[in-house]
Amino acid sequence: MTQQTGTILIVDDDDMAREILRRRLSAQGYSVADVPNGREAIALVKKTAFDVLLLDIVMPEFDGLQTLVALREIRAANELPVIMLTAKEGTDDIVEALRLGANDYVTKSIPFSVILARIQTQVTLRRLVARVEALAVEDPLTGLYNRRGFYQLAEKEEQRVKRYGGALHAIMVDMDRFKKINDTYGHRVGDEVLVVTSRCCQQQLRSVDLIGRWGGEEYAILLPRIDVAGAMKIAERLRNVVANAVIDGDDGPIKVTLSAGVASLDETCADLGALFSRADKAMYDAKRSGRNRVCLFEAS
Ligand code: GH3
Ligand code: MG
Ligand code: MG
Repeated sequence: MTQQTGTILIVDDDDMAREILRRRLSAQGYSVADVPNGREAIALVKKTAFDVLLLDIVMPEFDGLQTLVALREIRAANELPVIMLTAKEGTDDIVEALRLGANDYVTKSIPFSVILARIQTQVTLRRLVARVEALAVEDPLTGLYNRRGFYQLAEKEEQRVKRYGGALHAIMVDMDRFKKINDTYGHRVGDEVLVVTSRCCQQQLRSVDLIGRWGGEEYAILLPRIDVAGAMKIAERLRNVVANAVIDGDDGPIKVTLSAGVASLDETCADLGALFSRADKAMYDAKRSGRNRVCLFEAS
């Protein structure tokens, strides 16, 4: 039999039943944790990621359904699949549990192979959903976040700064005369240039920085915990590294440059939308003043 992979949490007040299930699942290759009540389950789920939770319905005090309701407040059904464990078939409890967000149920008396198959179904589904979620925020060409993914994370950073204070800077990058690259070398080479230049930019950033593909040949970058001089320095480094990059074309090396605009989040700049539109304005200043340069947004 093939070894299964996945992490499972068993929640059951019956010590013996819990122990048997834990051993049998471990023997199949699963990593298994177990707790005797709902409160411990909630505490553990907050700290640790599980692929599937097996939840006994009948438990004293804080029962399976109450635990399920509390769980669903912190983890959606696609984030943490829950399979209810029930001693008997066909009760209202099962219907109620499914209504409250359980993904499936098994009766304790059914053969272990069936429990195993139901668990594996949930693990597979959860991984598929995770893959789809990752694809929804990824740019397929460059592997960077797409605009949606970038903005989701940027909003979190914005909230953090608004709550705890600290600086936040944006850089808007636009490749220079990119239409000419496509016209001269073809769209396929244009694509390759985007792959190489986006990687060049990414390599210049710190681990706390965020980069995304804003659109066609534009990248947006968010820099936390840095002052304006530092942000300008990073933007200048991006400009320099791309201007000096040599990209192999079919008929010799290809040279490209970028223009960048830098802006700071401050009290005159209400939100991320305003921040990026300022960086965009500064980027157009860079274009107007000759391209292959970095400009800082200035309020006047
Ligand atoms: P400027 O210096 O003013 O920015 O000139 P530009 O030619 O870069 O400006 P414009 O925005 O007019 O053209 C951008 C070009 O980028 C047009 C479009 O065909 C190309 N482009 C956008 N996305 C992609 C892509 O995914 N792959 C390729 N190969 N080209 C793209
Ligand atoms: Mg453009
Ligand atoms: Mg351009």
